[in-house]
Amino acid sequence: MQQIKPEFDFLFNNLNKISYILFKPTHFGDVNQKMADFCSCQRSDLRGKPIASILNSQELKTVKKFNQEVFAEGKRKKAKIELEVESEMRMIEVDVIPHHNVNGEVDYLLCLAEDITEELKQEEKLYRATKRYRSIFKNAPLAFVVSDRETNIIDWNDKAEEIFGWKKDEVIGEKFNLIVAADSYSKITDLIVNVFENNESYNVHKNIAKDGSELYCEWNTALIKDRNDKILEIISIAQDISEKIKIQKRIKNQKEKLEYNQLRTIFFANISHELKTPLNLIFSSLQILEYKLASEDHLENKFDKYLSSIKNNGFRLLRLVNNLIDITKIGVNTFCLHKGNFDIIKLVKSIVKSTADYLETKNRKFIFQSNLESQIIACDPFNLERVILNLISNAVKFTEAGDEILLKIEKIENEIVISIKDTGIGIKKENQAIIFEEFRQVDQSFNKKREGSGIGLSLAKSIVEMHGGRIELTSEYGVYSKFSIYLPIEKIAAKNLETDNFSADSLINKVELEFSDINNI
Ligand code: ADP
Repeated sequence: MQQIKPEFDFLFNNLNKISYILFKPTHFGDVNQKMADFCSCQRSDLRGKPIASILNSQELKTVKKFNQEVFAEGKRKKAKIELEVESEMRMIEVDVIPHHNVNGEVDYLLCLAEDITEELKQEEKLYRATKRYRSIFKNAPLAFVVSDRETNIIDWNDKAEEIFGWKKDEVIGEKFNLIVAADSYSKITDLIVNVFENNESYNVHKNIAKDGSELYCEWNTALIKDRNDKILEIISIAQDISEKIKIQKRIKNQKEKLEYNQLRTIFFANISHELKTPLNLIFSSLQILEYKLASEDHLENKFDKYLSSIKNNGFRLLRLVNNLIDITKIGVNTFCLHKGNFDIIKLVKSIVKSTADYLETKNRKFIFQSNLESQIIACDPFNLERVILNLISNAVKFTEAGDEILLKIEKIENEIVISIKDTGIGIKKENQAIIFEEFRQVDQSFNKKREGSGIGLSLAKSIVEMHGGRIELTSEYGVYSKFSIYLPIEKIAAKNLETDNFSADSLINKVELEFSDINNI
């Protein structure tokens, strides 16, 4: 085996680098102590041995080829070589320096190597961490705004572009306040001061987008510092919570509305009691008065006019109170129907019977048409009566003496249709939809002659709809009005029929009540 000069060996062996000499591309010439330590063996274990003793077959091929090239080209070159030492893969970076003899031929290679395993591991770690950060930064569903310690923006991710509308290029170098609403500047300053003092880094404030629209964001801020604790960057992460805040506000409003509605219901329940008690007292006193006067022949006729005025106006008040309470209950969903299976034909006929005389006294030509004998449907008779009486009362209210009122009941497909048509003033097209809204009356000046509160139709519509039906209006202004109630033919399973409880007699007071508005016409 070729040897190196002893004085050179001294230098070589004490070199602070893993070093070896190759006289052939495939065999070690000499190795220094550092190399022996690296390979966990003695210098003599490697000296003159084939390089295959520390390389796997794949790596051997590459290294052999590389060494041959340096021998052939005579040029200094660097290579990274992977080798297994004590079952652990290590990586060295070798600086291969060819030595030329006096004839200019390469007679050996001086190889100076460095163990870069740890460095590579760190590099890999760093690479992965950077990659991870870039991937989070790019794809996060949160806006990332990176700024320097003077709050100049230095980076900005896709989500930030989406939320604030500015492209990255447009904001680099701009102050962070570019995206802060003026009235939130102080909040941002507080946040940054807090972060610098290592305190709370969370804040919600009003931001402003490129198009000037305002949005609320939840911000979390962190500092990136160097080894000397000097602040390098501020990372601010934002989530657009405008929608959340909107929903919270809506819930709050709804809660307040609900509370207000509850208050309103309680108020109306109280007021209804307060209003009905004196009315009941008036009615009972009236009854006694009527009774007393009936026994005094000479007095009876003298007071008739006054008594009926008190009674009628009492009924008007009672109807108004009832309607107001019910419309309020409907508004807050506390109005309930008491439905059962009833014969709707019998019910309508009872109403017709109880109102016929009355309408005659008003000189209206009242016609009733029905080719149905009986039809049981699920309904609340008390409330349906109110609806029908209200429609008949309106028909009287908006007609003149001699006009015609036609009440028809028929079966169309799977529905019962009750229609009330009059040849009165009719309703203009533009008013046909609004009359079903609460408190709406058409042409106030005209209506002064006709009493009413504008609640009747809205209540009627709600009651019919609560029956699963609908109410429709057809009219030609100045010619006629026709209100049609469509009720589904269906029954409630468990209920018994109670139709017999409803007779014409029991309706008399209700007719007076519902017609109280028109008694003065
Ligand atoms: P009101 O208690 O004022 O009668 P309604 O809700 O019953 O309240 O009716 C609302 C308005 O609809 C009435 O003021 C009137 O302008 C119009 N209206 C209702 N029925 C008729 C009808 N048969 N003919 C013409 N207009 C009517």
